Amino acid sequence: VVSLQNVHKSFGSNQVLKGVSFDIARGQVVAIIGQSGSGKSTALRCIDRLETIDEGHIQVCGHQLDGGKVDLEQLRKDVGIVFQSYNLFPHLTVGRNITLALRHVRKLPRKTCEERARQVLETVGLLEKYDSYPEQLSGGQQQRVAIARSLAMEPQVMLFDEVTSALDPKLTGEVLKVIEKLAEGGMTMVLVTHEMAFARRVADQIVFMHHGQVWETGGPDILVNPQTQELQDFIGNGL
Ligand code: ATP
Ligand code: MG
Repeated sequence: VVSLQNVHKSFGSNQVLKGVSFDIARGQVVAIIGQSGSGKSTALRCIDRLETIDEGHIQVCGHQLDGGKVDLEQLRKDVGIVFQSYNLFPHLTVGRNITLALRHVRKLPRKTCEERARQVLETVGLLEKYDSYPEQLSGGQQQRVAIARSLAMEPQVMLFDEVTSALDPKLTGEVLKVIEKLAEGGMTMVLVTHEMAFARRVADQIVFMHHGQVWETGGPDILVNPQTQELQDFIGNGL
């Protein structure tokens, strides 16, 4: 469903992606790991076309993202993205945060939207918070609402960029549990994460980025038996 081939991206003279290639099959979970500044977020953002690329090819759910025209509206329906900051609307209830885009972008009937909001809140274990406001929720709960909001759009692929790095360990665990559940349900996902143990458990494929390149990639076992010195250094004794 997702394919990156020789993707290059610079910001000014800063070459951030230097020929990045990897593929994700339907139902697969890929974890992108690597040092700060290695290009993980940029690679992820290119998949949702929040960044355009300078060279190479990206294909996502049948959309060709290099050159030519991209149906951004359809792409954003097919691809959900969740960031470290939850970006919920503080003045809207949890339920309204979720139904907003369904009502106004998808133009679905109110009833359908509300049913779907309840469904996805149940998935993330927060059905009882339907009428609460974001400030009444913990950080982990807010992040789960952000995930639910994304799921409500029924994406084919979900992208997660360090969604737990602002959370303490207990709240992190709650959010990771939701992601793991999605993985078990067969959702295709790309996770940028620093949670190595989690990546090892949930991911089918690990992509280790180093200085804008895929330095090493393979099954979760590469976290135990890294083939390159760089990956070994990165992991340290973190597992
Ligand atoms: P982290 O683990 O800290 O999130 P990362 O691997 O996600 O790091 P990126 O955010 O992809 O790294 O950034 C890679 C490089 O691209 C950095 O040098 C960063 O300064 C640069 N960069 C990212 N976004 C932009 C932008 N919009 N404009 C200019 N430079 C950018
Ligand atoms: Mg990042």
